[in-house]
Amino acid sequence: MKPLSQYELLAAQAHGHLCAGQILGLRMALYGVGLLGLEDPAGGDRKRLVTFVEIDRCVTDAIPVVTGCRLGKRALKFRDFGKVAATFCDLQENRAVRLVARESSKQRAREMHPEIENKNQQQMQSYREMTDDELFEVQCVRVALAAEDLPGYKSPRVVCAECGEAVSFGRQIIRDARTLCRACAGERYYAPL
Ligand SMILES: [Zn+2]
Ligand SMILES: [Zn+2]
Repeated sequence: MKPLSQYELLAAQAHGHLCAGQILGLRMALYGVGLLGLEDPAGGDRKRLVTFVEIDRCVTDAIPVVTGCRLGKRALKFRDFGKVAATFCDLQENRAVRLVARESSKQRAREMHPEIENKNQQQMQSYREMTDDELFEVQCVRVALAAEDLPGYKSPRVVCAECGEAVSFGRQIIRDARTLCRACAGERYYAPL
């Protein structure tokens, strides 16, 4: 693992700016992979790790910087729960830890650095200095990943009987003996014009 300052540079590049969310996300990922005992998550251990994130905010962008887990590699899973939380799963040992950012950390930042007026700067500096325990609550959890959710799963593509679009990874729905994509099965989030 690299020192936090080096990850900060990489996170600023990936995210477009450095912010309190980047520091929090980096700390979260470093703590999570550390608890799993992974020494090189983005290198030698890269096939062992899958990360679930629970919010689409700044903090989420920092997590792949440490873990190497990316959406396009199927190693980053998004569950839109609106929580500053992430679960790090070691596929090799079949164990996982879920970390939630503590609500108290913002108040703690105000106490630690009252002299820094800018809230983002105040939180950035404090999040660098706080202990893991001050920042995060930890749960050991079990994550049941289906075969089709694993990175590297070889999936046959099927064609939706309604729209003709191809569907991978078993995401089709069979209804009245017809193979449908999720959109045609009623989960469409867009309205064709
Ligand atoms: Zn940001
Ligand atoms: Zn369809």
